[in-house]
Amino acid sequence: MSTDVMAFIRRKFLEYYSENSEKIPMPTSLPNREFGFVIFRERMMVRHKGFINGAEVKAFLKSMTPMDAYYSSAYYERPEEHMENKGWLGADLIFDIDSDHLQTPCKSEHDYWICESCQNSGRGQQPELCRKCGGSKFKNEAWLCETCLEAAKAETQKLLSFLQEDFGFLPQDIEICFSGHRGYHVHVENEDVRQLDQVARKEIVDYVLGTGLKVEFHGLMEVGKSKIVEGPNLFDPSWNGRIAKGVYDFLKTSTPQQIEEIEGIKSNKSKKAMEHRDLILKSWNKKARWGALKDVSFRTWVKLAEYGLKKQTSFIDTVVTTDIHRLIRAPFTLHGKTGLKAVSISLEHLKQFDPFVEAIAFSKGTLKVNVNESHKFRLGNEVFGPYRQETIELPMAAAMYLLCKKAASPVE
Ligand SMILES: [Zn+2]
Ligand SMILES: [Zn+2]
Repeated sequence: MSTDVMAFIRRKFLEYYSENSEKIPMPTSLPNREFGFVIFRERMMVRHKGFINGAEVKAFLKSMTPMDAYYSSAYYERPEEHMENKGWLGADLIFDIDSDHLQTPCKSEHDYWICESCQNSGRGQQPELCRKCGGSKFKNEAWLCETCLEAAKAETQKLLSFLQEDFGFLPQDIEICFSGHRGYHVHVENEDVRQLDQVARKEIVDYVLGTGLKVEFHGLMEVGKSKIVEGPNLFDPSWNGRIAKGVYDFLKTSTPQQIEEIEGIKSNKSKKAMEHRDLILKSWNKKARWGALKDVSFRTWVKLAEYGLKKQTSFIDTVVTTDIHRLIRAPFTLHGKTGLKAVSISLEHLKQFDPFVEAIAFSKGTLKVNVNESHKFRLGNEVFGPYRQETIELPMAAAMYLLCKKAASPVE
């Protein structure tokens, strides 16, 4: 990005912080939090910053105008010291759901990677190692996508159900935040979680991901000499109910082909399961009658239950939740890669939340830009692009998005 474009973005960010800093909510126990910022000029992270109060943070946002702003999920005695001297007091429990890590079919349309050592490139998700040179560092170009963000929201909704129904957190303990780019964060702030160490947090991650979970230990079994299959009910608590629900949802929506795709299920078995589908669905609303179908074997039920289990997990990022020193993006600050703002969302509003409308930070005016290349995208109620080598006047939010994506420059 040229220094001119960067200077332009920074001026707009300053405008945003000058007009909106009073509305930016501050974290609880602010003097105990570590703050971190990505500074425009150096494009590097400055961390270990501490502030006495919100006024100081807001003054900093206006004077330094960072590209990105974060604070720690952790509480420290001395947040400005080096990590080993900070005096860790505890940390909120945080979750990150990033659409980069979700298997969505549209990735090959809007994501692009370049190997940093040999310039080999490709579409879709980057490989772990470059197939040409074995390098492991890649530059990524990822566009905002409705399908990907919807998928991330669905994973967030599943996570919220775990947090409330299985762990018993109250709505007031939970904060949801759209990151301003490709995903959602969930913060749990509650006395009970503060002292949890990395091992305890890993246990929570494993529970949500269903790691190592055996369906045979969650109510699915063969009973008596005649080996009648019994299983969990739809409304059973914890994983038992989730497994039943997973199977129920699968039977409700799947085709015979999809059932056959489950490893080890032969077509005659899938046919049997399909023939009885309505009967199963109807009876399960009251009490799951796994055993009513004598011609569906226990092994088949186990396969279906394992498949259903996978669909019930929430795809959270293990590293983020187990890191007890993590910096998280501050709500209502700007995202340097999009020019959108991070937005906190109430539990009730999540379903209707539209990131392409509600995360817009620059809603005034227009800007004429030279666009190099851009995918089609929606912002507000308008669809833009695709563009290629053209000069066009755009609403400010769309122009800022392309500038931040390094896909355009302002026309003088
Ligand atoms: Zn390479
Ligand atoms: Zn997508």
